[in-house]
Amino acid sequence: MTTYNYIILGSGASGLMLAYRMANDDFFDDKSILIIDKKIDKGNDKTWCFWEDNKGEWDGLLTKTWPSIFFGSASYSNIIDISPFNYKMLRSEVFYETLWETINKKPNFVIVEETVDSYTELKGNVQVITEKSQYIGEKIFNSLPNPEVYLNQKKYPVLKQHFVGWFIKTENEVFDDSTATFMDFTVPQKGNTRFMYVLPINKKTALFEYTLFSKDLLDITEYELAIKDYLKNRNILDYKIIEKEKGIIPMTSFKFSKLNSKHILNIGTAGGWTKASTGYTFKMTSKKTKQLITFLKSGNDLSKFHKKTRFWFYDLIFLDVLANNNEEGAELFSSMFRKGDIITIFRFLDEESSFMEDLKIIMSVPPKRFVQAFFKRLF
Ligand SMILES: Cc1cc2nc3c(=O)[nH]c(=O)nc-3n(C[C@H](O)[C@H](O)[C@H](O)COP(=O)(O)OP(=O)(O)OC[C@H]3O[C@@H](n4cnc5c(N)ncnc54)[C@H](O)[C@@H]3O)c2cc1C
Repeated sequence: MTTYNYIILGSGASGLMLAYRMANDDFFDDKSILIIDKKIDKGNDKTWCFWEDNKGEWDGLLTKTWPSIFFGSASYSNIIDISPFNYKMLRSEVFYETLWETINKKPNFVIVEETVDSYTELKGNVQVITEKSQYIGEKIFNSLPNPEVYLNQKKYPVLKQHFVGWFIKTENEVFDDSTATFMDFTVPQKGNTRFMYVLPINKKTALFEYTLFSKDLLDITEYELAIKDYLKNRNILDYKIIEKEKGIIPMTSFKFSKLNSKHILNIGTAGGWTKASTGYTFKMTSKKTKQLITFLKSGNDLSKFHKKTRFWFYDLIFLDVLANNNEEGAELFSSMFRKGDIITIFRFLDEESSFMEDLKIIMSVPPKRFVQAFFKRLF
């Protein structure tokens, strides 16, 4: 049986990005690389958005960029100019197609469409069992979701960012497509953290996503009714639903890195690359896959790739507060957006802020809950 140098489990955002970076770097030309995914052609299964200053690596593939965002709630609403940042939208189909085009040209890659049943670390390598076959790899990069690992523990709360989205097209020009609605908390909160997220692609087309940061999912009709009401309240009555999207993103400070070993590295959401306090993952994945390429050229022990930072602790406290006081999310975010400067907020969420900047953000939220959560974790 062939022993592959690397096996990548899952060719979604993280697995494919890692493979693409390997395909673009001649260090990997003499390495054998196997990619396994149960569904290679996933089309537009996701719409990724992220903020970025100036130009970015994926700019050629974007559907839309916005120079300003709207934040709304009962206590604070504002259109915020985010320059030098832009808020960017990338749809997955063009991303997958473009990256596959590069990977498919490389003779050292093997791609199989099979469902992975399990993988096991052996002495010096890893065995992967699929529904049809088995494979051996020296190093495995795993992006297959494994929710049991964080659901079967009680130390860290697990919330979900869950949403249903409608792409709608209107008869008339009704959208201001220069501004993306980042979070609109003016929707009824019903004891949770609930907001509408609106991405106008042009004056007649927009994505409306009804989103919650909470523990429990809703019935599909509740998300859809909330979108209908939101449109009705804005007098948008003449529209067609042209596409739908839904998603569940885990929000937890569970230590995914403890699942890594010398030969196995968990990547993407399965590797804890999802920002626990927001669910944003895509930009972190861009950054981490780049770092991983550099690491692979020098490091051998994959368990040494992960580095713990102070941001992990901030997210932990934030999630403790949100899990125990889910109805207060709107006020927490409003306070942060009212008092904090948007560039500092973005840098903080990107885990690139200085300690002084962190303090500014931390001081912008009501302290009571955070102090309680902090001392609870400490002792
Ligand atoms: C609808 C949606 C929208 C999102 N929007 C944003 C956003 O706007 N911004 C942002 O930063 N993040 C966003 N996220 C979060 C995150 O960026 C995405 O979930 C991203 O796709 C995570 O990448 P990944 O590689 O970890 O997982 P995935 O992209 O889901 O890749 C996992 C791969 O594993 C394969 N697979 C699963 N099980 C098996 C198995 N047993 N055998 C073989 N293959 C298997 C799947 O087919 C898939 O291709 C969104 C998530 C969702 C669900």
